[in-house]
Formats: sequence, structure tokens, C-alpha cells
Amino acid sequence: MQKPLRIAIVGSGLVGSLLGIYLRKGGHTVHIYDRSPDIRTIQFSGRSINLAMSDRGWKALDGVGVGDEVRSIAIPMDKRAIHLKDKLNFQHYGKEGESIYSISRGTLNRKMIDLAEAAGAEFFFEQKIWDVSLAEATLHIGESERGEWKDVKYDMVFGADGAFSRIRHRMQRQSMFNYSQEFLNTGYKELNIPANPDGSHKLDKYSFHIWPRGEYMLIALPNLDGSFTCTLFMPFEGENSFAQLNDRQKVEAFFEKNFPDSIDVIPKLAEDFFKNPTSTLVTMKCYPWTYEDKVALIGDACHAIVPFYGQGMNAGFEDITILQEFIEQYGDDWKAIFEKYQDSRKPNADAIAELSYRNFMEMSSKTADEKFLLAKRIEKRFSEKHPDKWLPLYSRVTFSHRPYTEALAIGDKQKAIMDEVMLLPDIETIWDSAQVENKILELLR
Ligand SMILES: Cc1cc2nc3c(=O)[nH]c(=O)nc-3n(C[C@H](O)[C@H](O)[C@H](O)COP(=O)(O)OP(=O)(O)OC[C@H]3O[C@@H](n4cnc5c(N)ncnc54)[C@H](O)[C@@H]3O)c2cc1C
Repeated sequence: MQKPLRIAIVGSGLVGSLLGIYLRKGGHTVHIYDRSPDIRTIQFSGRSINLAMSDRGWKALDGVGVGDEVRSIAIPMDKRAIHLKDKLNFQHYGKEGESIYSISRGTLNRKMIDLAEAAGAEFFFEQKIWDVSLAEATLHIGESERGEWKDVKYDMVFGADGAFSRIRHRMQRQSMFNYSQEFLNTGYKELNIPANPDGSHKLDKYSFHIWPRGEYMLIALPNLDGSFTCTLFMPFEGENSFAQLNDRQKVEAFFEKNFPDSIDVIPKLAEDFFKNPTSTLVTMKCYPWTYEDKVALIGDACHAIVPFYGQGMNAGFEDITILQEFIEQYGDDWKAIFEKYQDSRKPNADAIAELSYRNFMEMSSKTADEKFLLAKRIEKRFSEKHPDKWLPLYSRVTFSHRPYTEALAIGDKQKAIMDEVMLLPDIETIWDSAQVENKILELLR
């Protein structure tokens, strides 16, 4: 057991509240601050962003015994349903029994706050943190940036305050602090597929639905109430862009032309399109993540990534798993814990940022390409026959706990092998032959 400390966590998002549970179980006093009102008391706004939880997220939740509570509000999705203009294809994600899980962000966040509170963490909502004194682990809290601030001193502060973190903002003023931020010129907008009158789902409930169209795509994830949350990803400017879709008729014509099978299931298309905001996507990297044994960043506050691998929250949860491993190893030596934590996580955060960025192409273009789907079938077949020799990249990221750096490196090697295999004459007919299997074995040697 560690010596009990007074610890502040800034941010009661997904990562902040789970971290609160871990630190409470470790015997610390935990105060969690958020600038927003208590999400549990806010009327549902009508927007229901949802997230895909996978193995790394579950491991962190199970690590403090809250996985089953979260499973009860999640829907397993074992495959992609790929909506082409003229047909529907299915592509299983992993092995039999492997799924990613659709969860409403709001429902999950409310549950995580309940669980953290039950574990003894104290929450302070509508408290804006404007600054932190790093060496003293003191928070500066107030109504406005220029108004009066209250100072609250702690033994340690965690910045779990998301991509535009104020805690990081202070660290950025240190010399030798590296920081970069890059916005995609693709944005996103949420739409909704309501439930059938009997509460059932209008599309296959256990699939992650994608309408891949190259530069842009639509996705839909199931909700417990029978609805789906859809997200349209599209460039801000250019031929097929948010800028072009500036009136009701254009939006409806665009969907009729490009997502014909979505028309009947999105009844309030134009209404939602103009009501819901168009949001940006950012990759943010920085280093170091810690200041002595006083302040540490965690989750999106130190590694915001684009959402195309469904790993942002999962990676943030894995930060906690790894931090906990070092806590168990180094006891009260927080300096060592923080150093090991940032050394271990930074390369992995960079790797998942890169993989996420690349996965936009896979989701939006390649899933519509027969050659790509054939390559995936060949890989799957080979991996089922030789599980010790080949774990597909998606599975290594999603259904394993191996480092993201390893997934990136091995994934690149596998891609080079598959590129050669796909050049074999008549690959469409011989794809499941011994010749193809032997070719892969040879290339692996
Ligand atoms: C469209 C989209 C889809 C996504 N899909 C997935 C997915 O399928 N799977 C997945 O794993 N991840 C996904 N993500 C990523 C995921 O949402 C984030 O990685 C995750 O929410 C990060 O959690 P966090 O707790 O670190 O930060 P946040 O969720 O951003 O929480 C930060 C909290 O800090 C508070 N805060 C901020 N500043 C202050 C301040 N100054 N004072 C006090 N409080 C403050 C905020 O109010 C907030 O509550 C997606 C992201 C997007 C944008």
C-alpha cells in the first residue's frame, strides 16, 4: 500500500473518473474537478455520441472490478456492415466471439462518475481550473480567466482535462516542452437513426455500419434504445464537403445519391444536419507528460488522436493500467512511477496516433475495394491456421494488449507481405490454396 496522498484530478471525463477509482482503491484522498455541471443532472441534449470499447478499455475497467457494470450498458459488434451503393457486405472483425462494444458516451460517463463516487472520490462540478502551480501542485480555480481565483493545494495533480488541457497549457510554458497540434481538414457531424415503433433496431444491431465513399463516409453505431448514432465524416471544403451542403435540398439530394439505403432510416436528416454542429478532429502530441512527482497528464490531455481506430478512450484507459503497474512496482517513489509511465506510454501514444490517422483511408476507401476485402480474407484464413505466426493488425490493436508500437511495426511488415501475395496470378481463385499459404510462410521467413 502506498502512503496516502491528497490528489486532485482535473476532468471528470472517462479517463479522470476511472483514474479516480484506481487512486481511491490505492488509499488516496481523491478530489475530481470539472468545469461543466454534473452530467448526471443534465437533461439529455438529444445528441448521443457513442464510442467503441475494446480489449484495452475492458482490461482497465476489469482491473478495478467495474467491467461488468459497463458491459451491461454496451452492445457487442462483431463485424463491419459495409454499405456499398448496390449491396451490403459483412466483414468480421476478429476471431469467433471477438467484438468491439458500442457504448453511449453520456451513459458511460454518468456510470463512471457514480462508480468513482461510490469508491469515495469527491467531485467538484462547475469549477473551472485556469492554471496550476507545478512545483506546489496547487490548482487555481475561478469563474473567469481574469477574475478572482481560489488556490487549492494538493500533494499531486493529474491533468485529465482533455485535448485542450489547461494543465498542459501551463506545462507548455516550461522550456524543453514539445508540443504539436494538427487539425484534419475532415470534420464530422452526428445524425440519428431512430428505433422502429416496437423499439427494435432498423439495421443489424450487432454491426458497426459503414458507408465508405472515399473522401467521406458515414458510420452508424447501435444504442440500447433501438436507435443508431450516425456520424458523417467529410472535408470542410471542396467538391463533396460540408461547405457545399448548405441547404436542405442539397443535403437530401446528396444522401439520396450517395447513401441511398440511409434515406428511409434517417427521417429527420435535414433537420438534424442543420441543428447539429460540424466538429473538428485534432491530433495533439506533447512531451514530457509529467512534472517531477507533482503533476502528470493522462488521456486526451497528453495524446489526442483522430477517432478512426476507435482507440482514444481505450488508449487513455490503458494509460491507467500501465500507471497502476508502475505504482505496484515502485511504491511511494512517484518520481520513478511518473518517469516510467511517460517513457512507456509516449511511443505507444505516437504509434496509435499514426495508426488512427492511416485508418481513415482503410475505413473510407479500402472497405469498398474488393481486392482489399480479399486480402483481409486471406490474412484471416492464414491467421486461423497459424495463430502463432500472424495476428492481423486490427486484432493486434483491438483485441490484444501488446504495445501499439509493436502493432505499427508488425503491421507494416505484414502489409509488405500481403502486397506481394496479392500480386500472385489469379489470386482471386487461388486465394485459399496451399500455394498462397506457402508463399506467406516463405515471406515470413
Ligand atoms: C467523434 C469521436 C469519436 C470517438 N470514438 C471513439 C471510440 O470509438 N473509441 C475510443 O476509444 N475513443 C473514441 N474517441 C476518443 C474519446 O472520445 C476520447 O479519447 C476520450 O473521451 C478522452 O477522455 P478524457 O477523459 O481524456 O478527456 P475528455 O473526455 O475530453 O474529458 C475531459 C474533461 O475535462 C473537463 N475539463 C476540461 N478543461 C477543464 C478545466 N479547465 N477545468 C475543469 N475541467 C475541465 C471537461 O469538461 C471534460 O469533462 C472518439 C472521439 C471523437 C471526437
